[in-house]
Amino acid sequence: MSDALTQAREQVLARIREDSGFVLATHENPDGDALGSLVGMHGLLTALGKDSAIFIAPEDLPLPDEYSLFGLDGLIQAPPADVTERTVVFLDCGNIDRNSASVLRDAVHLLNIDHHHDNTNFGTLNYVVPSACCTAEIVWDLMKELGVRPSASVARALYVGLITDTGRFMYENTTARAHLMAAELIECGVDVPEVYRRLYENLQPAKLALLARALERIQRFDSGELTLSSLRVDDFRDAEAEETYSEGIIDHLRAVRGTKVAALVRELGDGERKGQHKVSLRATDDAVDVSAIARIQGGGGHRRAAGFTTSLELDELTGFLRGAIASQLHPSSEGQTAATLA
Ligand code: AMP
Ligand code: MN
Ligand code: MN
Repeated sequence: MSDALTQAREQVLARIREDSGFVLATHENPDGDALGSLVGMHGLLTALGKDSAIFIAPEDLPLPDEYSLFGLDGLIQAPPADVTERTVVFLDCGNIDRNSASVLRDAVHLLNIDHHHDNTNFGTLNYVVPSACCTAEIVWDLMKELGVRPSASVARALYVGLITDTGRFMYENTTARAHLMAAELIECGVDVPEVYRRLYENLQPAKLALLARALERIQRFDSGELTLSSLRVDDFRDAEAEETYSEGIIDHLRAVRGTKVAALVRELGDGERKGQHKVSLRATDDAVDVSAIARIQGGGGHRRAAGFTTSLELDELTGFLRGAIASQLHPSSEGQTAATLA
């Protein structure tokens, strides 16, 4: 760990030890790591006798079915009246624009604890550890340092963060430390098969119907380097699927032989971005940095998993993706560079 990171870790530990009131927040459409690190941090603070609340905006609730295993003790759906007196802790959120509650930005102490390498360092104190496989790993480390043993339910929450962000120990961020963390959490009482059943089985039939549509719509470009599928609002309606049911579909695209980049494009059905496209990107190896592609469109993420939302039409968007991928994979090819600029 660099000196700067060690210092940031010490400062975070000092805030946790010294401050008494906290409010915890994460990114919109919270995923397993977002929720796992919220619940883990809340468990840590509560064990230390602190006053902690978890803020999740009403538009992100109820959570998708698979996350019903999280007991959200301390949940609030609006920032508390005394927010300015509390230390605000953002977890797993690379960019503050990914949270709608602007009042949280004015906190005197705004802790930004995350593992996205392109984190915009929006906190008054930024503790960003790109080598951590998930934000839950950072919370787990803080917990150990502060001498708090997670309860079985907190251990399970951290375990969910771990397995969702590593793709069940499949992605390149699956370090030895990730497995050590798993072992320790299991010793704290995680029921492994139960967690997997609740997260990945018990599927709503509509989820399979939506997957079927996405598989029918697969397109491959540039000798298969890009594998793309798209889902329209009609697909969600016909499959009787909710927006969150598309979670996981991209892993099927990523698995197709020859694929360098997988893209899933979803048309948004409601809210202020209605009609726009939410794009998920995955890279299969280090040849392409999809977070760089996402940043061009105002999004971000990790080298191998990133996303953005755009008002580009599907054809234009496909052209953009093909060009951006080609400019990374084949930088000397003139034709491909022209496509990037188009
Ligand atoms: P997803 O494809 O939605 O599962 O997201 C994959 C990764 O990209 C996650 O690490 C997200 O935090 C990140 N990501 C997705 N959408 C955005 C966005 N609009 N802005 C910044 N990061 C994003
Ligand atoms: Mn996340
Ligand atoms: Mn994460």
